[in-house]
Amino acid sequence: MVAGVVRVVVFRLAAIAAAPLVAAAVLAAPAIPAAAQDIDVNTAAALALKERMTPVTLEQAFPGAEALELVNGRPPALAVMIGGEVAGHLFSTKDTVNATGYSGVAFDLVAGLRLDGSLTGAALLWHREAIVGRGVPEERLDDFVAGFGATTLKSFRAVRPDLLKRATVSGRAMKAGVRSAARVVHAAHVTGTLNNPVAEPTLDRVGFVPLTTEQLWAAGSITGTQVSIREIIKIFEKAGGDGARPDRNFFRGARTMDDLFIDLATTLVSPASIGSNLYGDGRHKFMLERQGENGLVVFLGSGGQFSFASNSHFQVENDYLFTRFKIVQSGQEFRFTRDDYRRVSAGVGFSYKDSMIFVLPADAGLDPLQPYDIVLMIPGTTEAGEAMVVEHTLTYNLPDMHKLLPPPPPIPVWVEAWMTSQVDVSILAVLLLVVTAVFVFQDSLVRHRRFYVALRMGVLAFTLGWLGFYMGGQLSVVNLWAIVQAPFAGIGLSTFLLDPLIFVLTVYTAITMFVLGRGVFCGWLCPFGALQELLNKTAQFLHVPQLRVSAVVQERLWVVKYLAAVAVIGLIFVSVDLADRAAELEPFKTVITVKLQREWPFVTYALALLAAGLFVERFYCRFLCPLGGSLSLAGRVRMFDWLKRKPQCGTQCRICESDCPLGAIQATGEINFNECLQCLDCQVDYYDDERCPPLIQRRNRKEAYSAQRYSTT
Ligand code: SF4
Ligand code: SF4
Repeated sequence: MVAGVVRVVVFRLAAIAAAPLVAAAVLAAPAIPAAAQDIDVNTAAALALKERMTPVTLEQAFPGAEALELVNGRPPALAVMIGGEVAGHLFSTKDTVNATGYSGVAFDLVAGLRLDGSLTGAALLWHREAIVGRGVPEERLDDFVAGFGATTLKSFRAVRPDLLKRATVSGRAMKAGVRSAARVVHAAHVTGTLNNPVAEPTLDRVGFVPLTTEQLWAAGSITGTQVSIREIIKIFEKAGGDGARPDRNFFRGARTMDDLFIDLATTLVSPASIGSNLYGDGRHKFMLERQGENGLVVFLGSGGQFSFASNSHFQVENDYLFTRFKIVQSGQEFRFTRDDYRRVSAGVGFSYKDSMIFVLPADAGLDPLQPYDIVLMIPGTTEAGEAMVVEHTLTYNLPDMHKLLPPPPPIPVWVEAWMTSQVDVSILAVLLLVVTAVFVFQDSLVRHRRFYVALRMGVLAFTLGWLGFYMGGQLSVVNLWAIVQAPFAGIGLSTFLLDPLIFVLTVYTAITMFVLGRGVFCGWLCPFGALQELLNKTAQFLHVPQLRVSAVVQERLWVVKYLAAVAVIGLIFVSVDLADRAAELEPFKTVITVKLQREWPFVTYALALLAAGLFVERFYCRFLCPLGGSLSLAGRVRMFDWLKRKPQCGTQCRICESDCPLGAIQATGEINFNECLQCLDCQVDYYDDERCPPLIQRRNRKEAYSAQRYSTT
């Protein structure tokens, strides 16, 4: 017993250890059969795919692969051999559908596909997506890729782009790429339907799925009706009055009123998944011999007292017609003669007293994809003894499993992105509503200094924590590039819709920029801006000395961010690589996206900017930020300047000017809206009758007047 257990353990350990060796051996073996073949592009791509695989990636994509063989035709793929037989295919998204990611460059994601349409796994060989660069740990990327091993052509639910938070667009692109590629490979190399895809629903005559007779009944592939003698008498009485009855000779063998009068079953024999399951492949083919191309074979079986068959089809006076039944579809009748039928013996678990198949040639016009009625015509007599016929109908509706249906139009990737981001978009909508409400009700809010300060700090903390660190929702010049490039690079709306959060944020920023200027975004919705402000407020709380930049120096330094904006955006038209490097002027990626998990020069630069911000509030925003500079330039066309000023501002009083953390209020008292971040600090002063001199004077006058009135009365 112990020896047995030891043997099993040793065997399993050996199998695990051998897996990479087997994979290595597979890759070392020649992929081309000995006879040299013409090397066309598909063959070359398939060979190149084999070259790219390593033992480890092969084991990830198709565990247990024993050999790889070339497959002829397109798309390029390798047949995976196990036990000397084709077990499935190996393919790359790059070779098959040229799937591209967020970067616009095709990634090389290799996956394995079994013959039954289930995937075996995947391996990401190469990509230019900013996944790890966006702070997604390697293990999370591995988990995401491993999800492909639990998918089928019908369901890719196991692949979860949400595992790649902050890089979900790349995840979605990869999921969509493997799904499309797997369908193409399966259609080309397994079902052979790639070149003749079904454009409209068609009867699946050859597709075979093993099903028992019970399963065929349950699916509706076989259907039937049963009517007792008691029930048929009621039907006759309803149609022909009391005393109306079916012909007497139908009751000869009946014992009780509950005996079956009719037990009728029908099915469409033509599809292999019905006929071959009931009668076996050989008999099924024999049954189909007379149907001709695209013809149909209908089975009818009956038990009980009444049969759909009689001797009428032997009688010349009936024109050899079956007089007791007909098929009716959309008002068109189909009748049968002695030339159209054949008796059949019992199928598997499927036996009737009368069992016949009826042949309908293609030009008969019966549409097997639409419901049709088997109408029994039961002769009898009325109460008055006159001849009558009652019709009893059995409707047959072929289940979809026996139809070839055109593939449903794929859900656009951007729609899927919005469906899976509903919660995040809702939370962002609440944040934007709060910010909008601040500006709509600003005159009331700023009258309550403490409440307003708490509200502002709360919004900034949420912007930094949730929008920035958690969701990675930091707008950047890279987003501006995409907008500026769109008309030239053919970038459509659907590309922008791939990232719902950034899309909503961009639209909101654009609207508010044209209404109020750059301040709504920079002052409230930029995570890095929020971080600077929160750090500076903490520094001030800890009495860190603040440096005041003189107006002259400040005006010269402001120019830097505008130059940076023009340079960084202009470079995108010169060289993508140069623009990429220039974008590193932004510390957003280092601080917000990857949370300082980068090489030391980037981290040092970002920390230096944050340190400067401890002494000069919003140092980076004021003098360096290319995004802030761009928004400021675009925001010059804003519609409103709705920060209030008094005639005394700049002439008799300069409190607001010295309080403005951005130095955006000039000595004249005017606000420079290009530099204003809409923090509303000056508006708090504006309504503060303990700080604003004109208000203090007015309050003093009021109090003096009240005191005077009080003393005279
Ligand atoms: S200036 Fe730049 S860093 Fe500052 S808030 Fe605006 S976008 Fe953010
Ligand atoms: S204090 Fe006033 S002028 Fe200065 S940034 Fe804030 S809102 Fe703009």
